[in-house]
Amino acid sequence: MKITSAKFAFSSEKLSQIPQDGLREFAFIGRSNVGKSSLVNMLTGHGGLAKVSGTPGKTRLINHFLINGGWYLVDLPGYGWARTSKSVREGFGKLITDYVTKAEKMWFLFVLVDVRHEPQKIDLDFMTMLGREGVPFGVVFTKADKLGTNALAAGVANYKQELLKHWEELPPTFVTSSEKRLGAEQILEFIENNLT
Ligand code: GDP
Repeated sequence: MKITSAKFAFSSEKLSQIPQDGLREFAFIGRSNVGKSSLVNMLTGHGGLAKVSGTPGKTRLINHFLINGGWYLVDLPGYGWARTSKSVREGFGKLITDYVTKAEKMWFLFVLVDVRHEPQKIDLDFMTMLGREGVPFGVVFTKADKLGTNALAAGVANYKQELLKHWEELPPTFVTSSEKRLGAEQILEFIENNLT
């Protein structure tokens, strides 16, 4: 799929503010600094759509971008900045859990992880919550350019092995680099195949 138009549609601070117009929503989430804004900008070919390393206050909203007039790319707040709550579910914030578990048109969630790091508990906990709630998701490895070919393959394999400890089947996975513009086609093709 080629993105011919991408424009900011609206920001929401709670689920009830999200307009219901029937279009499918493909959402992106991950820990702060994982490279989410850069990925959104790479996917849309629009350098300024999502703010790279934006101010924390502004990025705690759900941002909808209308793509090709036919679907929404949804930029969710980063998690992992204030994990003080007792339960894991609460720990990700009400806005995030409400959106991913209750938004009617939330069609697929891309969970971003930095390929250089060992699997992090917070990400695995988040995916466990998604599994329990029946939320369809995939894993996007970011910053692939920061590793050489062998280390990249090892990092991805290591992560998949960890996932297989928790899941019978692997979710869809995508290897990306916003720096080198890698992986956008795979993600956009996946979305295209899930539009109808
Ligand atoms: P966000 O907080 O998840 O939205 O992350 P950002 O997109 O703001 O990126 C965080 C930092 O990682 C910034 O300094 C980016 O330049 C850097 N970064 C993001 N994606 C990549 C990538 O694919 N490769 C490299 N080398 N750096 C990246």
